Formats: sequence, structure tokens, C-alpha cells
Amino acid sequence: MAKPRILIIEDERALSEILEINLQREGFETSVAQDGSQGLRLAQASVPDLILLDLMLPGKSGLDICRELKTSPVTKHVPVIMITAKSEETDQLIGFATGADDYVTKPFSVKVLIQRVRRELRRGEAGGEEDRDTLTHLGIVIDRVRHKVTVDGRELVLTPTEFRLLEALIRRVGRAFSRNELMDAGMGEDAVVLERTIDVHIKSLRKKLGDHSGLIETVRGLGYRMRETPAPATDENDDADEN
Ligand code: CA
Repeated sequence: MAKPRILIIEDERALSEILEINLQREGFETSVAQDGSQGLRLAQASVPDLILLDLMLPGKSGLDICRELKTSPVTKHVPVIMITAKSEETDQLIGFATGADDYVTKPFSVKVLIQRVRRELRRGEAGGEEDRDTLTHLGIVIDRVRHKVTVDGRELVLTPTEFRLLEALIRRVGRAFSRNELMDAGMGEDAVVLERTIDVHIKSLRKKLGDHSGLIETVRGLGYRMRETPAPATDENDDADEN
């Protein structure tokens, strides 16, 4: 089997070397670009299986690069993991809004990074995920053929918009979605709605999820995400409206 190919776009040479050594040891093939323009050229010339993209780059920022990668028909399907400098950077969230698939914050453990890389690659392989008939997550089962959702076996009656929102969130567990992205996912790109409309749909969806309502987490200032693990049992689960 061919080795998965990882393109590292990172101007800090010390870091890119560490990444290369560790990724190669884990059986990946690597290449490095030291700025975004070079990264874009390499990605177009020979499409990698995954891209590690530093946020802070000389010249074009990682955000611009990400946006370009995700809008080019050649590279838009390539998973991008952003590398951000500080945990308080809301830029990580902007990263998601520009289509990045995941992010890690410096300093990060190489072990964690490699887990994330493998996870994104698996998601890519499942590739047919788009076409899978059922999606499941922590007791929630979405049957896309019958257009049916059950939670621990109990069937939920959802509106079409709620169904699509839940599907979008469960497709990408752990990923933060902006309200804008959720509007596109839930209502189609042509719908003219206020961002707050999403909050109303999410509130209703949470109510229907009952005990599982805490799985839909509010991401302050951005939107929502599906938790990877069950929510702590506070059940005072924020009601979403404090942003
Ligand atoms: Ca940098």
C-alpha cells in the first residue's frame, strides 16, 4: 500500500523537521513548504493525502491558504489540520470557518498530532461517508434512507431543517460549525435567514434530544459542535443564548 503523503506548510524549520521525522517514522511520506505560496504550488502539483498548515506564515496567512485550498477543485477534498500558536486565539475558530478540518495548538504533542492525522485520513478513506446510509454517535442513529432518527431506540420527530442540522453535526463530530455554515447545511445556501434562526432550530433540536441535549455544545461567539464524549451531567446545559 502506498504511504499516505503529508504536506507540511510551516516556516519554522525546527518544527517542520520534528514533524517530518515523526511522521516518517510512522510510515508517512512528507514534503515541506516554508510559505503559503510554495505550499499551494506543491499541493496543486502533486495532491497530498493531508495538509498540516501553520496559521502564522510569512506572506499569505494560513487562513488565506486554507481558504484557497478549500475552494480549489483540485485540493478541496484534502483534509487540512491547522497549527495555531496560542489557545486563546479565536483564530482557531476562524480556521474552522474557512473550512479547516481540525486544528492543534502549539505546543502540541506529536503523538496527539499523529492521532489527529490518522483520524482525518480514516475519515477520507471512509470517503463514501457521504453515501453511508446510517450515521451513529453516542446512542443517536440517523437513518438517511428512511429519514429517521432514533435516540437510544426512541424515535424523534424532527423537522427537515433539524434533521439536516443534526446530520451535519454528527458527520463531523468535534468540529465547531459557525452559524453560517449551519445555515447552509440546514437550510440550503439560498435560504435567506437570520443567524439567530439557527439558535431557534438548535434549541428545538436539543429539546427533542432530551437526555442527550448536552451533546450539542455551544461554541461561544461562533456556533455549535457535536461533543465527542457524553456531556457532564449538569443538564443546565447553557441554553445556548449567552453569546
Ligand atoms: Ca509560523
